[in-house]
Amino acid sequence: MPSSYSTDIVIFGGGVAGLWLLNRLTAEGYQAILLERDRLGGGQSINSQGIIHGGLKYALHGAFGGASRAIADMPRRWSECIEGHGEIDLSACRVLSPHFQLWSGVGPGAGLKSFLGSKAIAGKAEPAAPDEIPEILRGRGAVYRLADFVLDSASLINALAEPQLHRIHAIRQDQCRVSSDDSAAPPPQPDPKHAGAAEPLEFHRLTAGRELRVRMKEQLVTLKARRYIFCAGEGNERLIEQAGLLLPRCQLRPLKMVSVSGSSLPPLFLHVLGAGLSATPALTITSHGRTEEETVWYLGGDLAEEGVARSDNAQVAAAKSLLQRLFPNLQFDDRSWRCLDINRAEPASASGRRPDNATIVSEQDIIVAWPTKLTLAPVMADIVLRNLRDAGIAPGHHPDLLPVCPPPPLGRPFWS
Ligand SMILES: Cc1cc2nc3c(=O)[nH]c(=O)nc-3n(C[C@H](O)[C@H](O)[C@H](O)COP(=O)(O)OP(=O)(O)OC[C@H]3O[C@@H](n4cnc5c(N)ncnc54)[C@H](O)[C@@H]3O)c2cc1C
Repeated sequence: MPSSYSTDIVIFGGGVAGLWLLNRLTAEGYQAILLERDRLGGGQSINSQGIIHGGLKYALHGAFGGASRAIADMPRRWSECIEGHGEIDLSACRVLSPHFQLWSGVGPGAGLKSFLGSKAIAGKAEPAAPDEIPEILRGRGAVYRLADFVLDSASLINALAEPQLHRIHAIRQDQCRVSSDDSAAPPPQPDPKHAGAAEPLEFHRLTAGRELRVRMKEQLVTLKARRYIFCAGEGNERLIEQAGLLLPRCQLRPLKMVSVSGSSLPPLFLHVLGAGLSATPALTITSHGRTEEETVWYLGGDLAEEGVARSDNAQVAAAKSLLQRLFPNLQFDDRSWRCLDINRAEPASASGRRPDNATIVSEQDIIVAWPTKLTLAPVMADIVLRNLRDAGIAPGHHPDLLPVCPPPPLGRPFWS
């Protein structure tokens, strides 16, 4: 068995970005493999709320901006995939809710925000039909129906990974090195902030491109790819350092998500507008079944952004008081509450704000890619494919195939 293989593309990271890209690349005829150091989907993707946004959330400040324009076509593209006639077959992915709602909420600021929201979404979303409005919201403020819908993140990752398992390989960072020719360049110095991590992962340049050495099972395998694509979410920052790239930098936007579970929580999929003119909803609720009888409400929006400054106990107290105000007829005291501290990983922007669209940056034979949102994974793959074509990288022929290894396990959402 050879220990040296060539391939067109090596992808790092088995979240939605890497898996979507792997599917697109192989459909276009590229030979590609994906390396995952932990669990598939195990970063942001599996713990996302699974909302396929149509962009209206970003219009709440009164105008359609770059983010909402980039995202507007996404529900159509994803729906085609889920119906089985899109660019990727996602017919095995579970849709948790075929629609999403925007609720003005209750309280003094809600009327104003409802008015601004209605202006921003005029002609782009309809008031929800009476029978679509959850009983708990009836007669309580304005409810709009958005084009957004909600996917079960675990079944999405499974649907993306399943047809590609023979191309997906588990690595551990301390098993993975990038070898060099006799280049005099010294290996990059470890960053002190990562001291103690199970590393090193060394990048050395060859005269042309790079070579990757990976331990798979007991064998050390050398890979030579025409492009290495970092889709590792938060892990991109470390890979960028390891590769000795000067740019790009990453930014992390922390969130403190909350889950609350118990019986008799009605399934809700909605943004709740709050007082003030923030461009994000005060609260975003998605519902996930843990068992037949038990619903889990997964809570994001301003609650999660502002909650990073709070302890878990304080965040649960804030969530409880918000829910009690919004849904006075429900009991929240005897429920099971949990918090999740998690970062959104994005390319750094000068303003520190969320980038408008999926972004890639390329340097030599490395592409660093961020979808920015799960919803924008298809756009990210489009941009990568365009970059490959512009660089003259067409699908190649590589006769020796890497042996199939047991793939990394699937991640599980924290609330499960
Ligand atoms: C709480 C939360 C809720 C969200 N909700 C939504 C939503 O409802 N809708 C939406 O559109 N977007 C949402 N997002 C954003 C969305 O989840 C992310 O933009 C998207 O999932 C990023 O996918 P990714 O594949 O780039 O990264 P990730 O999902 O983080 O995957 C990165 C993968 O790379 C692996 N990895 C890391 N380092 C290495 C390495 N050195 N080698 C190999 N593998 C490595 C990790 O183990 C991980 O599996 C949400 C984000 C968060 C945090």
